[in-house]
Amino acid sequence: MNDMTQINHHLTDELLMGYAAGSLPEAFNLVVATHISLCDECRAQLGAYEAVGGAMLEEAGLNAGTAELAVELDAVLAAIDAGPTEPPAAKPTPGVFPSALQDYVGGDLEAVKWRGVGMGVKQAILKTSKSASVRLLRIPAGAAMPDHGHHGTELTLVLQGAFKDENDRFARGDIEIATEADHHTPIADVGPDCICLAATDAPLKFRGLLPKLAQRFARI
Ligand code: ZN
Ligand code: ZN
Repeated sequence: MNDMTQINHHLTDELLMGYAAGSLPEAFNLVVATHISLCDECRAQLGAYEAVGGAMLEEAGLNAGTAELAVELDAVLAAIDAGPTEPPAAKPTPGVFPSALQDYVGGDLEAVKWRGVGMGVKQAILKTSKSASVRLLRIPAGAAMPDHGHHGTELTLVLQGAFKDENDRFARGDIEIATEADHHTPIADVGPDCICLAATDAPLKFRGLLPKLAQRFARI
């Protein structure tokens, strides 16, 4: 499996900061970790946030408007300007699933216990904490998912094949981030079955801290 494919759709700064701060639900952590293992760009950006420290980011979010915040922000900005000195290299994993995902599944594609959900689409729900859920989806080439809206945030990471929807086309390594404002109908490309890792949260869990953090750092 060649992981050198061009990735066009990336994680947001809010997700990378949330991951660095440890404030994401487990299901989102898995999607973020899987994207990062395929994407040099996001891995480098995460390195910058982790250099600052998740604790500091969290504190900055809680102490809005204080003098300490300005100091902390300077440190954050300086660290980001400096950039990561040497981002850890991606560990190439043979197969479809990066190692972070293989740990959850207990192997690669052949270890997945698929269950049909109709229209030829199959899924396998992975065990995580209840605050959000994550599943593998297998969409036959050319098939459409039911059109749908979202009650929270949905992260969809492509692992094999590709899909298109009203917004764009997503291939291996690409992540689509859909929110309540989005309504879409994903359709799998012709070719190999489209296999995605998709996470959705409980509405209030993700929307509290992260939008506040995002505002705080919007000028970055
Ligand atoms: Zn990326
Ligand atoms: Zn969706």
